[in-house]
Amino acid sequence: MLSFERLYSMGHEEVIFFSEPSCGLKAIVAIHDTTLGPALGGTRMWPYSSEEEAIEDVLRLSRGMTYKAAVSGLNLGGGKAVIIGDPKKDKSEALFRAYGRFIESLNGRYITAEDVNISVQDIDHIYTESNYVCGIAKASGGSGNPAPYTALGVFRGMQASATKKWGSKDLTGKKVAIQGVGSVGIELAKLVNEVGGTLLFTDINEDNIRRMKDQLPSAEFVAPEAFYDLDMDIYAPCALGATINDDTIGRLKCEIVNGAANNQLKEDRHGQELKDKGILYAPDYLINAGGLMNVSIEFEGWNDYKSRRMIDTIYDTTLRIFAISEEKNIPVNKATDVLAEQRLDSMRKIQTTYLGRGSDHRFPGTKVRHNKL
Ligand code: NAD
Repeated sequence: MLSFERLYSMGHEEVIFFSEPSCGLKAIVAIHDTTLGPALGGTRMWPYSSEEEAIEDVLRLSRGMTYKAAVSGLNLGGGKAVIIGDPKKDKSEALFRAYGRFIESLNGRYITAEDVNISVQDIDHIYTESNYVCGIAKASGGSGNPAPYTALGVFRGMQASATKKWGSKDLTGKKVAIQGVGSVGIELAKLVNEVGGTLLFTDINEDNIRRMKDQLPSAEFVAPEAFYDLDMDIYAPCALGATINDDTIGRLKCEIVNGAANNQLKEDRHGQELKDKGILYAPDYLINAGGLMNVSIEFEGWNDYKSRRMIDTIYDTTLRIFAISEEKNIPVNKATDVLAEQRLDSMRKIQTTYLGRGSDHRFPGTKVRHNKL
C-alpha cells in the first residue's frame, strides 16, 4: 500500500498518478531523489495484475535510478514511470500524447525515456507534447538506440574486472560466456570478439541465435540449461535478472561475473557468497549505465564521441568500487551503494549555500539542461 510511511522508508520525494479515461491512460510517476538533478528514468508499460503491483514496481525502479545516476557521476536524480496496460492492445497516439502532456506539467522535475514495451514511436508521441523526454530517434536529433552504448559500458567493466583479477585488461583467449544475445548481448559479443576473447553464448530466441551465428560464426552456442556449468572465465548475464541465486551459485566455475542484466543477484546475500567463492562480481547498475549516460548527453547536444568518453569512465569507477570492497571487506554490491551514497551525502551538504536570487538552485549541477529545454 502507498503510504507516507512507505515513502519515508524508501526515501521518495513524490509519487504522481495520471489518468485520462478517454484514452485509458493510467500512469504512475515516482520521483525518488532530486539531490543531483532532475529525476531521469524510463517509462515501462506492463499489464500489471493490480495497482499495488504497479506501485511496488515504480517505487523500486525509481530508487534504483537514483543510485545508478549517483554512482555513474551524472547530475541526475532518480525517477521512473509505469503505464498500466497491455502494450499489444492499449497503445494509441492519444494515450502517449496525453501522457506527454502530464509529463510536461511536471516542469522538468521528471524526464522520461524508453523502458520495457516502449518504442521509439511512443517516445516520439510523448516528445510532441513535452520537452522532458530523451532517447528520441537520431532522425529527430536524439541519441537513438542505447544498446551499443550499454554494451560498451559493460565491456569497460569487463576490462576493469580483468585488470583486478588478472592484472591486465587483456581479454585475449579468455572464455566469455554471454547469456542472452539480444540488443545488448550481441553488441557486447562483437566487442569481446574484436579483442580476441573466446565467445560462448546461449539464448532462447531462434532469430537472435541465428543472427549471432551469422555475424560471429566463431562463437559457440550452448544450450540454456547447461550454461551455468560451463568451463568459462567470465559469465556475462545479458538476459534476465536474479540469475545469481541458490540454484546457480554452486555451479559457477567462472572467475568473474560481468553482464548487462539488471539486479543479477537474487538476494543481497548472494553478493557475499560470490565474494566467499572468490568470484569477482562487477557492479551491475554501474556497468550497465552506458545507455543512461548516452541519453543524458542529449541535453547538451548528443554526439558519439562525447558519449563514448563518458562511458569510458566506467573502467575507473569499477576499479574504485573494487577498492572500496577490499578496504571495507564488503561485497561489491554493498561497495557500489557506499560510493553512490557518499556522493549523494556530499552533494546534499553543499546545497546549503544560498546562491542569490538569479540562480536556479533547485537542481544544482544541471545547468546544461537549459541549453536544450
Ligand atoms: P533484449 O530483450 O534485446 O535481449 C535479451 C535476450 O535474452 C533475448 O535475446 C532473449 O531471447 C534472451 N533470453 C531471455 N530469456 C532467456 C533465458 N532464460 N536464457 C537465455 N536467453 C534468454 O534485452 P536487452 O536490451 O539486450 O537487455 C538485456 C539486459 O540488459 C536486460 O536485463 C536489460 O534490463 C538490461 N539492460 C539493458 C539496457 C539497454 O540499453 N538495452 C540498459 C541497461 C540494462
